[in-house]
Amino acid sequence: ADEDLESVPLPFPSISMSSRERRWSDTTPYASKKKLQSWFQLPNGNWELGKIITTSGNESIISLFDGKVLKVKEESLVPANPDILDGVDDLMQLSYLNEPSVLFNLQYRYNQNMIYTKAGPVLVAINPFKKVPLYGNDYIEAYKRKAIESPHVYAITDTAIREMIRDEVNQSIIISGESGAGKTETAKIAMQYLAALGGGSGIEYEILKTNPILEAFGNAKTLRNDNSSRFGKLIEIHFSETGKISGANIQTFLLEKSRVVQCNEGERSYHIFYQLCAGAPPSLRGKLNLQNAEDYNYLRQSNCYSITGVNDAEEFRTVMEALDVVHISKEDQENVFAMLAAVLWLGNISFTVIDNENHVQAVEDEGLFHVAKLIGCSIEDLKLTLSTRKMKVGNDNIVQKLTLSQAIDARDALAKSIYACLFDWLVEQINKSLAVGKRRTGRSISILDIYGFESFNRNSFEQFCINYANERLQQHFNRHLFKLEQEEYIQDGIDWAKVEFEDNQDCLNLFEKRPLGLLSLLDEESTFPNGTDLTLANKLKQHLNSNSCFKGERDQAFTVHHYAGQVTYDTTGFLEKNRDLLHVDSIQLLSSCTCPLPQIFASHMLTQSDKPVVGPLHKSGGADSQKLSVATKFKGQLFQLMQRLESTTPHFIRCIKPNNLQSPESYEQGLVLQQLRCCGVLEVVRISRSGFPTRMSHQKFARRYGFLLDNVASQDPLSVSVAILHQFNILSEMYQVGYTKLFFRTGQIGVLEDTRNRT
Ligand code: ATP
Ligand code: MG
Repeated sequence: ADEDLESVPLPFPSISMSSRERRWSDTTPYASKKKLQSWFQLPNGNWELGKIITTSGNESIISLFDGKVLKVKEESLVPANPDILDGVDDLMQLSYLNEPSVLFNLQYRYNQNMIYTKAGPVLVAINPFKKVPLYGNDYIEAYKRKAIESPHVYAITDTAIREMIRDEVNQSIIISGESGAGKTETAKIAMQYLAALGGGSGIEYEILKTNPILEAFGNAKTLRNDNSSRFGKLIEIHFSETGKISGANIQTFLLEKSRVVQCNEGERSYHIFYQLCAGAPPSLRGKLNLQNAEDYNYLRQSNCYSITGVNDAEEFRTVMEALDVVHISKEDQENVFAMLAAVLWLGNISFTVIDNENHVQAVEDEGLFHVAKLIGCSIEDLKLTLSTRKMKVGNDNIVQKLTLSQAIDARDALAKSIYACLFDWLVEQINKSLAVGKRRTGRSISILDIYGFESFNRNSFEQFCINYANERLQQHFNRHLFKLEQEEYIQDGIDWAKVEFEDNQDCLNLFEKRPLGLLSLLDEESTFPNGTDLTLANKLKQHLNSNSCFKGERDQAFTVHHYAGQVTYDTTGFLEKNRDLLHVDSIQLLSSCTCPLPQIFASHMLTQSDKPVVGPLHKSGGADSQKLSVATKFKGQLFQLMQRLESTTPHFIRCIKPNNLQSPESYEQGLVLQQLRCCGVLEVVRISRSGFPTRMSHQKFARRYGFLLDNVASQDPLSVSVAILHQFNILSEMYQVGYTKLFFRTGQIGVLEDTRNRT
């Protein structure tokens, strides 16, 4: 047995690998004589379990599950876990933490509707895309009484409540995953549990009702998810000293405004538009001159009006009821709907060319007429705002006529702003209704439902911001896990110096460094009147090419090496999206109109323009440039978020989408694997692998393997354990003996387990 063990190199990937090369994989070669089963990768990339029949030289004959017999190179085999570990509810219990073993374990459970699995401190949730019998009062009761122990959102939430009370520390539940993975559903399940345990005052009912409202205004059907959240959300739920919910506060991040005026074929704009068109009662229809969704350009362009299984009219009634519950008056509700109608009618405004320089004028038709009426301005003023721009040249004010594309941009910018302001206003009203009041003595649990890492064929400014946010969250995640590991080692008297750790600080520096980081350079270019997406790309390449996380690409593109993989961003549209300008003319129009919710515009548009810009070196132009850039504002929000999270005890939930069809019972290994890498589950494993991931108490170890001993000299579990380690010649760097437990490098228990099974 000795030489076999020596031929097994340290299952301990070199920690000095750079963070992006550090893609996790178990490179432990397969020591065939010791293991009976192993994973073999089929040409399609899927892994299959095989039984070794014979081995000669470096080739093995294996038989697959379906009876097929193959001759394979030994290095193409990856060790499989002993059967007793099938479907364990914590991946950390696996002796071999390689990719196929993790994938198989999750699939094994998923096939039996056990969609939740722990990966150490992290909860992995696989979207079932169907109703699973795991929720409701009976389950809540059972988790509360600790009658069920299997991993669940309820269990995580329960831990959060207990730790909040026990340690008097605020808690957070951080949910991530890609679009359609189940973040929003998971957040709602956690809220349900909190409401059930901390309810009583009635405020919990209000808190739950914020979900249909925010989903109506902030979610839309996309190609990836019929109910995709187009904003990030943090909801902080406050508890009194007696553990009862006393109020809540919601913060939102980066709403995708562009969807209001433009969306892809087969996708929809925000649900609320279709709900309004389908469900508004006759009197409201009349007042707002509402048409069918098909009659509005903004809704017509993507050629998609309905969602399978969803009745928009019914949803509208749900939203109206929910608005009542959060104390938005009927009058304000009607005003909100009027603003929505104004946005829709804006999209129907068209322009005619009036001279041979392609200048245009808004056509005086239905669209113009209804918008003016709904927002409360004169048709003339609206027409002027949409067709001209006031400019200051030297000391003179001049009026410039707009070309067709400029006029369309002005119109769409107005629509986007109205919608975004409406959204912010709604959140503000909800927060007023849920406010805790002045006596904020208790503690809180925050739930973060935020877009996961994104990497598409074409990545734009949105992905740039989202992935930046994910780098920040990943760092938070790593640091937390590292700390937990450290605590456990110290507690058991283990030599901590043997565990190394590396984080994604380099990539964060690439984004945040001033003056030569991605965000600073973007802001600087955004303030140059002559800056374009191309000059931005060139500037980035010029200053950042020496950074190891950055690579300039052809045309206007650049690549960032994120912790979750490389992403190439196309700078097209970056400057415009970052500047996010609304013309002074439009701001003036909105602040002067008698529109039903003037305070919306007053509080949002105007505050935008009195804040100083952070970062840029140059100032130019009129009031526009005073506005905070989108990236800078987002960075500020993110810092504030991180600060809040830092002061909490975090609980992580990683949602996984098992297929791209939103369909139950399909588990695509490749897709799952890619997400496990991106959302850091394999990182958890990696961090643990860098230490001693397998732990077993001396008692358990002695009981399980003691009978394998040739000479039993003592009954003391610690002595028995040490004797076993010696008899099996387990290398000293492969384990550490703690006060209460044995700690092993990955893979060691598997060796003992196989021997045990053959004895
Ligand atoms: P996005 O980033 O696009 O907002 P998401 O991660 O928030 O995506 P969800 O909207 O929560 O994804 O989930 C997508 C769909 O998956 C849900 O509408 C629902 O049909 C299904 N789903 C998610 N979780 C569950 C669950 N626990 N039980 C049953 N169905 C679920
Ligand atoms: Mg969502």
